[in-house]
Amino acid sequence: MALAHVLGVPRIGPNRELKFALEAFWRGEIDEAALRSTASGIRQANWRRQHAAGLDFVTVGDFAFYDQMLNHVALLGCAPQRFGFGAPLALPEYFQLARGNGACQAMEMTKWFDTNYHYLVPEFTPETQFSLDPGWLFEELAEAQTAGFDAKPVLIGPLTFLFLGKEKPGKEKAVGFDRLDLLERLLPVYAQILARLNAQGIEWVQIDEPILALDLPPEWRSAFERAYHHLNTAGAKLLLASYFGPLRDNLLGALKLPVAGVHVDGIRGGDELAQVIDWLPATRILSLGVIDGRNVWKTDLTAALERFEGLHARLADRLWLAPSCSLLHVPVSLAGEAALDAEPGNWLAFAEEKIAALATLRTAFNQGRQAVAAELSANARALASRHASSRVHDAAVAARLAALTPVHDGRNSPFPLRQAAQRKRFKLPDFPTTTIGSFPQTPEIRRARARFKADALSEADYTAAMQREIGYAIAKQDALGLDVLVHGEAERNDMVEYFGEQLAGFAFSHNGWVQSYGSRCVKPPILYGDVSRPRPMTVGWARYAQSLTGKPVKGMLTGPVTMLQWSFVRDDQPRAATALQIALAIRDEVADLEAAGIGIIQIDEPAYREGLPLRKADWAAYLDWASRAFRISASGVGDATQIHTHMCYSEFNDILPAIAAMDADVITIETSRSDMELLRGFGEFSYPNEIGPGVYDIHSPRIPDTAEMTRLLEKAARVIAPDRLWVNPDCGLKTRGWTETETALAHMVAAARAMRESARAAIR
Ligand code: GLN
Ligand code: ZN
Repeated sequence: MALAHVLGVPRIGPNRELKFALEAFWRGEIDEAALRSTASGIRQANWRRQHAAGLDFVTVGDFAFYDQMLNHVALLGCAPQRFGFGAPLALPEYFQLARGNGACQAMEMTKWFDTNYHYLVPEFTPETQFSLDPGWLFEELAEAQTAGFDAKPVLIGPLTFLFLGKEKPGKEKAVGFDRLDLLERLLPVYAQILARLNAQGIEWVQIDEPILALDLPPEWRSAFERAYHHLNTAGAKLLLASYFGPLRDNLLGALKLPVAGVHVDGIRGGDELAQVIDWLPATRILSLGVIDGRNVWKTDLTAALERFEGLHARLADRLWLAPSCSLLHVPVSLAGEAALDAEPGNWLAFAEEKIAALATLRTAFNQGRQAVAAELSANARALASRHASSRVHDAAVAARLAALTPVHDGRNSPFPLRQAAQRKRFKLPDFPTTTIGSFPQTPEIRRARARFKADALSEADYTAAMQREIGYAIAKQDALGLDVLVHGEAERNDMVEYFGEQLAGFAFSHNGWVQSYGSRCVKPPILYGDVSRPRPMTVGWARYAQSLTGKPVKGMLTGPVTMLQWSFVRDDQPRAATALQIALAIRDEVADLEAAGIGIIQIDEPAYREGLPLRKADWAAYLDWASRAFRISASGVGDATQIHTHMCYSEFNDILPAIAAMDADVITIETSRSDMELLRGFGEFSYPNEIGPGVYDIHSPRIPDTAEMTRLLEKAARVIAPDRLWVNPDCGLKTRGWTETETALAHMVAAARAMRESARAAIR
């Protein structure tokens, strides 16, 4: 009998109940008991669903009020010392770790592997001590047990916990301190947790070590053996779970660890399966991720049965079935999606539907396909309809893709010739000033957009309202003396959704929310079919803005890689092919903007770096298609049209050549927070085109003065030729207010003028 279980499920609740309860609690509108009761309701419903579907365990410990890594910080009693919290950690203190308080900055947050989920980064110093805080996991376990469920707790493994943390200076400056040194101190606490779970009647504990899907330094890889020899003696049976990719060089070591079972990602690591089976010791359980936990498509159940039938025959009881990873990364349920068309609606599976599919697979393995004949045939019909649908397959898009030649992914002339043509055309001063695109999204703007969406505002009135906003933004920029203006993006709710709504091939769920961090959720578009652009998307707004000023107005688009990265995308073709389709749609928009007289066009790619595969060996292939997709979107224009791109992160020294390969005429990037740290890389790799390192941080309400911005520019001018330097903020201004925006931009324009002045003085 194959068993079935999940590694984890969404915790936000079917209607984002956790989000609303958290925010009400933070505003002081509900008390802790009310928040806890909402949380308990969500957990209970999750367990009931798993139980009702016939899974063999319910998973406990996948719930978190804010984040699963933060839960482990609490459980292991290792809150950063700078907060001064004692044990046990109270819930309000837990939230202060996540959100900061008057005295302490919040813990840092970063992306969980290659997902769009963010975790809080544990902080380790040489003094860090661990001690079990029994309030956290164990209460939830008791809750599940009291409700009568057979529970399988999940923990983040000690190595993943340490690896994903960061070393911080302690009281004394520790030379050569390595967080791996803390493992010896950490293991006894993990052993205590396991022993306690065992004493609470637990047989199996899932212990997640997703870092096994990463390139690991050898000392980390070898630490696994030590760690699991220690934990193996603690009593509970361990299911060591890895996911998000193949294990490759970590595989053999992982399979040899003294644990009772392993979980591998059969979707992303499917190619390794034969090896897994060969090497799996004869007594181990194999939990196989057979349902994709990273996307929203129905699994082809018949194909899965055929693929794994032999394995089931061979492993029998030793085979467990699961989704590839936690279902945290998909929306909760399709129940609220009545408004979605049958196509693509009937092709989708969110967490709840994935659990049902898993149960169907389990029954088919254990009792034969006839036991679930109806489910299997409904599944086959849905897949056949997706496969054959004219909403998925557009012959014109296929033909365009097939006709792509190298001509399409390069500009007509090399950069120096383009630069000369653009200088002649725009006659910009040295150190030209610009912004990243958006201006403050005021309550009035949001209200107008919402009313238009709800049909409470006519198209004409909406257009007039947005034009007023554009007029306001242009007048302000003109008055500030900026050189390259923007229309301000008032009409956009979200930089991906705005375009997705206008492109063929995208659908939008009503309630398909996924946790991004804490109470923040995102609703990614669903890219289900061949992408094309039926009509211009931004030309009207751009043309209107340009009609109001003699200065050039930048057209503003979202790039193909970012569109891909922030959507749920098709699994029936490679991501690279989907990116190229989006690129062609953007290319059409770029051409129309150019024809409308927009001479400068920015194609934002803030998600370019986060698309990097987990393993370095896979980077080159990704960067190759990603930069090609960008170039295809950007290169249908004449030499005198200036293409900008924007990325908002400061760690890309390691991919500078690939960024140069995008061949944008100008790139604007975040640098101010790191004090132009980024530019170190430019010393070693000379970026060939023009560049605007952000001179102030728009994420913070602090407004630096002109002298501070000038100092940053001087620093930049030491590594980048001054005649290739642009002056701009770090990112878009949509989250800021107008007053601070005006002050900051006035300082920025003054800083650019100061730079011009000292350049002139140097010549004299
Ligand atoms: N043009 C966008 C804006 O200014 C860019 C946003 C981003 O980089 N994420 O808002
Ligand atoms: Zn940005």
